Amino acid sequence: MPDHYETLGVDRTATAEELKRAYRKLARQYHPDANPGNPDAAEHFKELNRAYEVLSDPQKRSNYDTYGDERAGAAGFSDFGGISDLFSTFFGGGGGGPRRGPGRGNDILAEVELTLHEAAQGVEREVEITSLAECEECHGSGAAQGTFPSRCSDCGGTGEARQVRRTVFGNVMTATTCPRCGGRGEEITSPCRNCNGRGRVQVGEMLSVQIPPGVDDGAQLRVTGRGEAGVRGGRSGDLYVQIAVLPHETFRRAGDDLACEVLVPMTVAALGGSIEMPTLEDPEVIDIEPGTQSGEVVRLRGRGMPRLGGRGRGELVGLLKVETPRDLTDEEADLIERFAKLRGERVGQRGLFDKIKEAFQ
Ligand SMILES: [Zn+2]
Ligand SMILES: [Zn+2]
Repeated sequence: MPDHYETLGVDRTATAEELKRAYRKLARQYHPDANPGNPDAAEHFKELNRAYEVLSDPQKRSNYDTYGDERAGAAGFSDFGGISDLFSTFFGGGGGGPRRGPGRGNDILAEVELTLHEAAQGVEREVEITSLAECEECHGSGAAQGTFPSRCSDCGGTGEARQVRRTVFGNVMTATTCPRCGGRGEEITSPCRNCNGRGRVQVGEMLSVQIPPGVDDGAQLRVTGRGEAGVRGGRSGDLYVQIAVLPHETFRRAGDDLACEVLVPMTVAALGGSIEMPTLEDPEVIDIEPGTQSGEVVRLRGRGMPRLGGRGRGELVGLLKVETPRDLTDEEADLIERFAKLRGERVGQRGLFDKIKEAFQ
């Protein structure tokens, strides 16, 4: 594994901004779309993403700097076999939702459509997200450059609005959140012009996400810290990637298993032989026993979908269907008629009854 700093061509002291700039420049240069048919560029692009994923996350970067591995010391980290450490996955809401805290940015949702093959192999996808990011001019403070938020003139910095009401029991003091500063205790007298004092700006961004092999339709992947920026120093929200897997013309999926219909020519079903069965990869030649019937199944172990976050693959189940030949030539029809005669089976366009009637006319 190459050094992440070297991959991005930055110093170990690089700021988040410098990392982002270096990553964007190189990602454009090595993007597979810009280098069709160049596996080296594709590989380098992967390394870039991997390096940026680690270094752009303060916790992972700190782990990487200290231990040379971003996962070190991170409790409860879920790892997809080393393919992508960026994600933790949960299905149907299990695994705990995002933590809420004061000033935390909102989560955002992006949708990704995959073919079955992409879901099986895992894929890198660019998703476009519209999000609120920290304002670059005021670094999220909301105050114009060179100025600082000042103490709120209404509440004097307490963040509370106190009111004294006279009641029959005497004077009662109530404290509510200061409406001027929203409870923060400070106000911005000269707001940043870039963000109008909000500290965050709306940005459209292309984000590269690594989809691990084996994802199923309806799965959600969480990319920690890639949601909206927090309010004035709060934690960023998370990005959730909703996966839709498109139906496949040959394979149906049930968990980690795949199923498909396999046509067996009548002659092969009767005499035995071999046929090609479709798989996610190249077709597999399988043996057919003499006397095979429609409805029998063939199971290929380890040829189904990869187990998400685990080892191995499910099975591929082929449902055999004996195929009756159509559009017979005269010669073929003759042969089958002779075969039917040997077995005493009634064949022909017209039934036996019609033939008898004809004979008496
Ligand atoms: Zn600003
Ligand atoms: Zn106030």
